[in-house]
Amino acid sequence: MTVTVATLGFPRIGPRRELKFALERFWSGKTGEAELLDAAAGLRTAAWARQHALGADWLPSNDFSLYDHVLDTSVMLGAVPGRYAVADGEATLATYFAMARGSTGDGHCDHAHGVTAGEMTKWFDTNYHYIVPEITAGQRLTLGRLKIVEDYREAKAQGYETRPVLLGPVTWLSLAKGSDTDRFARLDEVLALYAVILGHLRHAGAAWVQIDEPVLVTDLSPEQGQAFARAYARLAEAGPKLMLTTYFGALDDNLALAAALPVAGLHVDLVRAPEQLDAVLAAWPADRLLSLGVVDGRNVWRADLPALLDRLEPVAARRDLVLAPSCSLLHVPHDLALEPALDDELRQWLAFAVQKIGELDILKRALNAGRAGVADALAASAEAAAARRVSPRIHDAAVAGRIAAVTPAMERRRSPYGARVEAQRAALALPAFPTTTIGSFPQTAAVRHARAEHNRGRLDTAEYELFLREETERAIRWQEQVGLDMLVHGEFERNDMVQYFGERLSGFAFTVNGWVQSYGSRCVRPPILYGDVSRPEPMTVDWWRHAQGLTDRPVKGMLTGPVTILNWSFVRDDQPRAASCRQIALAIRDEVIDLEAAGCRAIQIDEAALREGLPLRTAAAQAYLDWAVACFRLSAAGVADATQVHTHMCYSEFNAILADIAAMDADVISIETARSQMELLEAFAQHGYPAAIGPGVYDIHSARVPTQDEMVALMRLAQLHLRPDQLWVNPDCGLKTRGWDEVRPAIAAMVAAARTLRADVDA
Ligand code: GLN
Ligand code: ZN
Repeated sequence: MTVTVATLGFPRIGPRRELKFALERFWSGKTGEAELLDAAAGLRTAAWARQHALGADWLPSNDFSLYDHVLDTSVMLGAVPGRYAVADGEATLATYFAMARGSTGDGHCDHAHGVTAGEMTKWFDTNYHYIVPEITAGQRLTLGRLKIVEDYREAKAQGYETRPVLLGPVTWLSLAKGSDTDRFARLDEVLALYAVILGHLRHAGAAWVQIDEPVLVTDLSPEQGQAFARAYARLAEAGPKLMLTTYFGALDDNLALAAALPVAGLHVDLVRAPEQLDAVLAAWPADRLLSLGVVDGRNVWRADLPALLDRLEPVAARRDLVLAPSCSLLHVPHDLALEPALDDELRQWLAFAVQKIGELDILKRALNAGRAGVADALAASAEAAAARRVSPRIHDAAVAGRIAAVTPAMERRRSPYGARVEAQRAALALPAFPTTTIGSFPQTAAVRHARAEHNRGRLDTAEYELFLREETERAIRWQEQVGLDMLVHGEFERNDMVQYFGERLSGFAFTVNGWVQSYGSRCVRPPILYGDVSRPEPMTVDWWRHAQGLTDRPVKGMLTGPVTILNWSFVRDDQPRAASCRQIALAIRDEVIDLEAAGCRAIQIDEAALREGLPLRTAAAQAYLDWAVACFRLSAAGVADATQVHTHMCYSEFNAILADIAAMDADVISIETARSQMELLEAFAQHGYPAAIGPGVYDIHSARVPTQDEMVALMRLAQLHLRPDQLWVNPDCGLKTRGWDEVRPAIAAMVAAARTLRADVDA
């Protein structure tokens, strides 16, 4: 029986973000199309060469994309919305980028919404964003550019036989939005195009195609189930053999459906769902190829190879196997060798994309020719795993002791909201419809320049801090002048709302080149949460104290919440996510208590990513929400009744989780509502949400400055649902991506709007 190695996709951005820079040069007009395409071809060639050299037997093609593979698929199927006015379905590069990008922006929040021409949203439960396919009623789908065939041929011309990667029709349709007719009514039309594409691939020489259907790990509707049966009955005859590829979870109740499809191969994720192996082996006959995702394509940890071999050897004795990462390596950084600053202990626990292929190669050799031939590599792997299990860098008895001592009372405020709100009214003496902002003010070129200079060592810490203090002072003075009621310090000292805290907590490490694609040219470097978390010293108290010292109005303390820090990091795989989150919650709690002790009367704990941590299966949702909410409460509940706890979330789809939002028990929640005309507030009202709400009155993702009248109108809509004493007036999100020229008039109009509302109430 033979074992081979596949990679389901390789990081496309390049080891040093070459694609990002090539795209940005092209978009700014510094280079032309030819240079961009050259750079892209160079990256593809390098990726094939690298994967081949590392021992991969099945190389992917068409995993590369200039922007997004879902968008590529839409363009291939001619699903180009009418507003781009494309003749004959043939989208040019300009159309492609028009579909991908709208006005620009930065920051965590706007990648969740995308002010792009096409809507952007998260790819399953990853932090990668795709462009949502749009199928409008009456729009005819036609074959667009066959990039998949071109890429296959390109690899072949360079001597690489590849297995093209194709996003499957059922997943593509499931992700599509838009038409007033039912999406799956378009199935046959889509399948006809897929059949032609597969025919072209066969004609070009492709023996296999990797067809990705990650919706198979989600709860499927009967309609989706039928679509699978129908789709694969048709596509199985169309051309190359199909490796039906699933990832991000277990097939579970969809296993029988998958096993009944007439495809030649099946890939399953044994990292997210190791327990599904036995069921898969029973359901999938040995005469069809089985691909096992055994190294983590979503996380940065090195595998324990001997432990994996213990599980794989009995399987490989009975059947041919393909070994692969659990999913495409798109979601992990490129190469650990590009991290000279990581110390040796930490380094030996890690594996990035390149190292993961190396691990698969060792597993393959052990299975094909015995462990002895790779004994050294196996010993090193086992040693690293053993060291990690006991390292004092990871396991901190003090943290374990504190976690063990957490009592349910620590997750509860001292009094219920009704009593707290009175104490807070007395302490804060705010007017009706108090005005505030979400935290950050513009990260101007000057702010970013100063940070970069400081990082390069060209601006010393004292000078840098002086600059930040002055910037903060200007922000405070301006907020007083414009008439805001509750001020913020402006977050000028923060590079990123998670990184800032990660850098100040123990248990986190940072990379220099550990970029992963978030969307298009935008990459992020998630912190690596490797050990027990604690807070050696206050992280924000000095900044708050400086700001509060400048004014008599209350300045909010500003923190990122534990769930958001967790969801935007690479997290430990040696304990449950909930356990890591609880440790972060205790560290944030320490900060909350220190802020209060310093005199802070209102503390905001942002949970921008709480909702996006929801599991893919609805059955698992409540368990997640329970621990996530408990962690938030643990971080927040250590303060007196008179101290006001705020939270902020950058989205508005709360309907399904409103009970959980209420259970967070924040005194004030600010949310995004401007673009949805306050619709969401109806749900808050129906739920009898007791506490205060700041429904965003202006969309910070747009450069447009809203008028006072618009904001008054929105707040009047809000009052259809909520009592006036429940309402705050604030923007949708932080203002870091905007310029002061936009922020000044917008906030002035917002303050004026609040005054109008107060006059209404008085009258
Ligand atoms: N306090 C943060 C800010 O204003 C919140 C950002 C966010 O939730 N995405 O920037
Ligand atoms: Zn936000």
